[in-house]
Amino acid sequence: MARSYVREARRRVGPKRARIQPVIERLLVEHADASIALRFRNELELLVSVMLSAQTTDVNVNRVTKRLFVKYRRPEDYLAVPPEELERDIFATGFFRQKTKSLRGMMRVLLEEFDGQVPRRIEELLRLPGVARKTANVVAAELGEPQGVVVDTHVRRLSQRLGFTKQEDPVKIELDLQKLVPREHWGVFPHLLIWHGRRVCIARTPLCHACVVNDLCPSSRV
Ligand code: SF4
Repeated sequence: MARSYVREARRRVGPKRARIQPVIERLLVEHADASIALRFRNELELLVSVMLSAQTTDVNVNRVTKRLFVKYRRPEDYLAVPPEELERDIFATGFFRQKTKSLRGMMRVLLEEFDGQVPRRIEELLRLPGVARKTANVVAAELGEPQGVVVDTHVRRLSQRLGFTKQEDPVKIELDLQKLVPREHWGVFPHLLIWHGRRVCIARTPLCHACVVNDLCPSSRV
């Protein structure tokens, strides 16, 4: 019964290849302000902010980095203080011991192998300790050179609800999205889903009646 309902819903909205463009276009209008919520002034601050944002909110990271970035300006600054001091300075972002370890390891490799400059290629970003694929994708996209599609909890939920993927694993979801989303939209697409997920397609109670893509969504409740 449930399965036939899902099949019927998919038939109603049509194939994902035909829906992706109108979904993007409508979300671009709806969330014209969709962009990264982290605050940073340069590439190093971007990388640090994204690393600190694991398991916490962007608002929380911004609160911490407001003071952090006054004290720590160059990669050397993160290595010049005892680890305990850095731990205290980023404490409020949670997982502060692991994050301190990652930040210090990352800064060391940044200085040793990249002359203190944040690289732009995903393969190079992934060589930095504590930088996983999602972080590398976010940084590359924000630097204007997206080489993948960022998959976070909102992107995962919305991609599934919109019938763009049946996968659960973020890496497999990203592969599905890379095949589906036109390359010129790889950078903005995750922002659109993230903002739509925060404002409309909320995890527990999606506001389908107010959703601009409800006629294109197999999970619509209206
Ligand atoms: S119709 Fe509902 S489930 Fe589908 S994207 Fe919109 S809010 Fe989410």
